[in-house]
Amino acid sequence: MRYELIVIGSGPAGRRAAIQAAKLGRSALVVENRARVGGVSVHTGTIPSKTLRETVLNLTGWRERGFYGRAYRVKKEIGGSDLNMRLRKTLEHEIDVLEHQFARNGVRTIAGIARFVGPHEVAVVEPDGDEHRFEADSVLIAVGTAPYRPPHIPFNDTNILDSDALIAEPRVPRSLTVVGAGVIGLEYATIFSALDVPVTLIEPRDTFLDFIDREIIDEFVHQLRDRGMAIRLGCKLERVEVDGQGWPIAILDDGRRIRSEMLLYAAGRIGATAKLGLDTCGLEIDSRGRLAVDPATFQTAVPHIYAAGDVIGFPSLASTSMEQGRIAACHAFGAPMPPAPAYFPYGIYAVPEISTVGLSEQEVRERGIPCECGIARFRETSRGHIMGLETGMMKMIFALDDRRLLGVHIIGEGATELIHIGQAVLNLGGTLDYFVENTFNYPTLAEAYKIAALDAWNRMPRV
Ligand SMILES: Cc1cc2nc3c(=O)[nH]c(=O)nc-3n(C[C@H](O)[C@H](O)[C@H](O)COP(=O)(O)OP(=O)(O)OC[C@H]3O[C@@H](n4cnc5c(N)ncnc54)[C@H](O)[C@@H]3O)c2cc1C
Repeated sequence: MRYELIVIGSGPAGRRAAIQAAKLGRSALVVENRARVGGVSVHTGTIPSKTLRETVLNLTGWRERGFYGRAYRVKKEIGGSDLNMRLRKTLEHEIDVLEHQFARNGVRTIAGIARFVGPHEVAVVEPDGDEHRFEADSVLIAVGTAPYRPPHIPFNDTNILDSDALIAEPRVPRSLTVVGAGVIGLEYATIFSALDVPVTLIEPRDTFLDFIDREIIDEFVHQLRDRGMAIRLGCKLERVEVDGQGWPIAILDDGRRIRSEMLLYAAGRIGATAKLGLDTCGLEIDSRGRLAVDPATFQTAVPHIYAAGDVIGFPSLASTSMEQGRIAACHAFGAPMPPAPAYFPYGIYAVPEISTVGLSEQEVRERGIPCECGIARFRETSRGHIMGLETGMMKMIFALDDRRLLGVHIIGEGATELIHIGQAVLNLGGTLDYFVENTFNYPTLAEAYKIAALDAWNRMPRV
């Protein structure tokens, strides 16, 4: 019962670490407290929310509305069963692929709740109550996070709910209040707004998504307000009351009362570390249940115990979690690791979607780098005309001294795919000349790169 690596949690970080260990010829055990593998990413987070988004965009005919008008719908009445059908099929397929991946690579998985009983020993309580103990040379904590549920919110998992409960049995409410303008809150607020559900978004701060370029956020806010979303920034939720009909009323600190059929509380998540027995191995967590690690190796304060994924905090993405898990496993077994590329892309699957890589204009200015920006609107591309796109834009930022690319920021159709061109050029140290001199497929949205680069070039001093 000894493994070279025990991984606690089978989400993106845990999965990638275990498979990396197996590929290095090491024995790995993955402990997962859900009945099936996949973690938050597959069961309640990334995949379900993106599937819901795709279902909504398809059934509402959202992508065709530029041509056929705002009333256009592929399916007139869209209900919970429509949303659920595609969700169940997609999740089943995803889990099947993951289970096969573990089996193919000889990674053993066990369903149960893991906790440390010593620095090198992990106890696992199976669903039937049986407890097993396993020893490990190294352990990776990849337990992820759970939605933060403050005691003053009367959650009932029916119409006052967090993001886990919302996706468990998605349905279409008559109106929706979303508390929290973080990535999760914004994704769901905009998905339901695309279903023509009246949505009110509440955020205590005056700004949101501060790591995204402000020009992109301005465009985003404009589009959301244009389609009728009520955005209440700088308003704190004081409490939630329930009226005679059972509808929640959000009471704000400025006295406003917002009544809706459903309230989604999406203001923060907390590391799933409380029951891990971390004290038995001398590890401490912060106020949000997160663990601190060495950002290069993902070792915790106890060198043979690693942590990766959402449990270590920002950026809390499935994509970055996978990489962190892989690096942790490589480090644990002394496998060579090239340095991580300077920039990773960030995707926000709201409607419209946003994606960004590199520095924002604010960050460039804070660093005192003289720069020029170029903008392309998707409606300027032939592909945009064909698709009936009225919105969507790309912003590129270049250094004035050597024309190197500093950042790419996109809002609109295909943003999360398009960003990878910018990512490649950025991480390879490319310049504006790449975009000006290269031929792009025509007609594509990727042509926006050339248009934005030429826009910047037009305004740059000639050398
Ligand atoms: C609504 C939503 C949408 C998202 N959308 C995106 C997106 O579009 N793109 C993106 O990149 N990221 C997205 N994310 C984030 C992404 O899901 C996370 O970054 C990713 O899942 C984190 O992976 P992880 O490896 O840390 O583990 P997780 O996926 O969090 O999984 C951890 C697993 O460990 C299990 N576990 C916990 N404690 C124990 C224990 N004691 N014993 C055994 N098992 C345990 C948990 O039950 C869970 O199954 C989204 C998240 C949410 C909530």
